[in-house]
Amino acid sequence: MTSNGDPASGVGATATMAAMARAIATRTDSLIDDPFAEPLVRAVGIDLLTRLATGELPPGDLVDQVAIDGAKVRTRFYDEFFLDAANAGIAQVVILASGLDSRAYRLPWPAGTVVYELDQPRVVEFKTRVLAELGAEPTADRRVVAVDLRDDWQAALRAAGFDPARPSAWSAEGLLGYLPPEAQDRLLDTVTELSAPGSRVATESRPNPRPGAEEKTKQRLDGISELWREHGFDTDMTRLRYFGERNEAGPYLTARGWTLTAISTRDLLATHDLPPLADDDLRMGELRYVSGTLAETDGSHRDIGGTADVAG
Ligand code: SAM
Repeated sequence: MTSNGDPASGVGATATMAAMARAIATRTDSLIDDPFAEPLVRAVGIDLLTRLATGELPPGDLVDQVAIDGAKVRTRFYDEFFLDAANAGIAQVVILASGLDSRAYRLPWPAGTVVYELDQPRVVEFKTRVLAELGAEPTADRRVVAVDLRDDWQAALRAAGFDPARPSAWSAEGLLGYLPPEAQDRLLDTVTELSAPGSRVATESRPNPRPGAEEKTKQRLDGISELWREHGFDTDMTRLRYFGERNEAGPYLTARGWTLTAISTRDLLATHDLPPLADDDLRMGELRYVSGTLAETDGSHRDIGGTADVAG
C-alpha cells in the first residue's frame, strides 16, 4: 500500500471519505451535527468527495445510503461514549486514528479535559492547520501526536503529557480494518497497558467472516472504487484494508480485563429509527460497537498474553 500519509492519498484518504459521509449526514439529518466535516473535505481538494460533501452531486450510486446512515449512528455512538466518560470525571481522552474527526472542536468537554489525537503526521498537521485557518478553537486542551499506529506509539503519547496513572477514555473508530492483525493486537495491548483502573474504551468489533463473505465485500469495494475512478478519484479501497482472520476486538479486550457491552450496527440503526440494511455486501450489519470499562484491580499486573476466547 503506498501513501503519502496525507488526507488525499492512500489510507489517509479514508479520513476524507469518513468526513464526506459526516458532511452528507449533517446536511440531511439532525441526528449528528459536524459543521467542520464539509470545510475539511473541501480543503483536502479531492473534487469528487468535495462535490458529494457539499451536495452539488447527489450520493446516488456513488455513496451507499447505508454508509451515510452508518456514519450517523457511528458518530452518535462515539459522541455519547465520550460525553458519558467526561461527565463521569474522566479528563484524559485518546482518539486513535482521529482522521478529520472534529470532536476536539465540537464536543462540550468539561474544563480541564485533555484530548490527544493520534494519526499519521500529515493528517493531524492538515486538520490543525485547516481548522485554525477557519478560526475554529478546540473545546479542550487538544494535543496532536503524529505516529504510525502499527509501531510503538506509547512513548510519543507519554511525551505529549499522557499520564497512565489517571483514568482515560480511548476510541479506535474506523481504524482496526486498516491495521494488520498483529498490529491490531499490539494496539489493544498498549491501550490496556496504559489504562488505569476505571478507564474506558470504545471500538468496533467484527466477527471473523463466514467462508466467501469477504469476497463479496471485496467485490463491493472494487465496484465503488471503479465508480469513483470514473468520476476522477483514483483509489483502491480493497487494497487499503487488511482481510483474513484476526482476533475479534471485543473478546480480545474482554480477555484483558475490560467489561464491555456491544450493540450491532443493525440495532443502532433501529434505535435511531433508520431503515434496516437491505443488501449488505459491506457486512456492516455484523459490525458490533463495543464499549466498556477496565475493572479496578488489586494492584497486580494484568495478563495481556494469550488468545482471546471470551465473548465480548
Ligand atoms: N476515526 C476517524 C473517523 O472516523 O473519521 C478516521 C477514520 S479513517 C476511516 C481511518 C484513519 O486511520 C485515517 O485517518 C488514517 O490516516 C488512520 N490510519 C490508518 N492506518 C494508520 C496507521 N498505521 N497509523 C496512523 N494512522 C493510521
